[in-house]
Amino acid sequence: MSIQFYLATSFIFPRSLRLRLFAICFVATHLPLLGYCAWGLATGRIALFEFVLLTLATVIGTGLALYGIGALLNPIHALANALNRSEEDRVALPEVGDVIQTLYAGVHRAATATRAQMEDLSIAALEDPLTGIANRRGFLRQLTALPAPQRKGCVAIVDIDFFKQVNDKLGHDEGDRVLCAFADRLSSQIRRADIVARWGGEEFAILFHECIEDEADWTLSRIAARMREEPIATVEGRPITFSAGLCCWNGEDIEAALHLADEALYEAKRDGRDCICRALSAGDPQTTE
Ligand code: GH3
Ligand code: MG
Ligand code: MG
Repeated sequence: MSIQFYLATSFIFPRSLRLRLFAICFVATHLPLLGYCAWGLATGRIALFEFVLLTLATVIGTGLALYGIGALLNPIHALANALNRSEEDRVALPEVGDVIQTLYAGVHRAATATRAQMEDLSIAALEDPLTGIANRRGFLRQLTALPAPQRKGCVAIVDIDFFKQVNDKLGHDEGDRVLCAFADRLSSQIRRADIVARWGGEEFAILFHECIEDEADWTLSRIAARMREEPIATVEGRPITFSAGLCCWNGEDIEAALHLADEALYEAKRDGRDCICRALSAGDPQTTE
């Protein structure tokens, strides 16, 4: 209703709300006087004293109303000017004289900027900034977002072997590059439905979605072979390799499955690295490389 009145009256001073308000106020405060004049002329019973008194009251009332509206509009204009202050904004709203439009545009810009910042923050909270893949939180979020019937497969914890030597011998920047290359290698070698994340440091987690252990093991073995054939980097002639622990996940406690995968990873490290071990829950430790 109120916006309809606003739009219906926009033909009066369309570029200035202040003048529009003044015009409406002026007409409204003069209605009693106009009504009296019309009635007096029609009946011939107009009295000079009443006319002067009513005119004086109208002038004073109009003055007060215009002053009050002007004073009330000042802080709104100040706010609109503040919202429209930057150079950029002035380009975006060059001729805006209507305070409501300016306020609306300012609030809209502020809301858009806030939404964009919130999106950036939520992406940052779920993504590893170095490699661009999911971080631990993003990984768990994606897993829990899976529909219940699809919450199954195998989880693997993958750890680059002797990564400290990469930093020590090739430098920290090269270490970072190796981490990015390894993240790319893993991402490009798994299926679209699988999920890979940087678990922390030089450790990565993978969900082999709706896979049995043999399939996940085979995929990891294929990636391990590729690491030797086409190394992402070498340290003193030795290609960079990884070890992995693998565990089935039946959709229940993911933390428990990841813990078992982590224990299997340490088994793989103990077995001499560059190998894949399956978790104890799925049978005895079994080295597949
Ligand atoms: P292991 O085969 O037993 O896994 O040995 P490792 O050297 O890979 O493992 P260790 O835990 O001794 O060293 C991991 C190193 O990874 C130590 C740490 O400085 C390095 N690291 C962790 N995060 C980053 C990173 O973001 N960038 C770089 N360049 N190095 C990192
Ligand atoms: Mg390591
Ligand atoms: Mg490690």
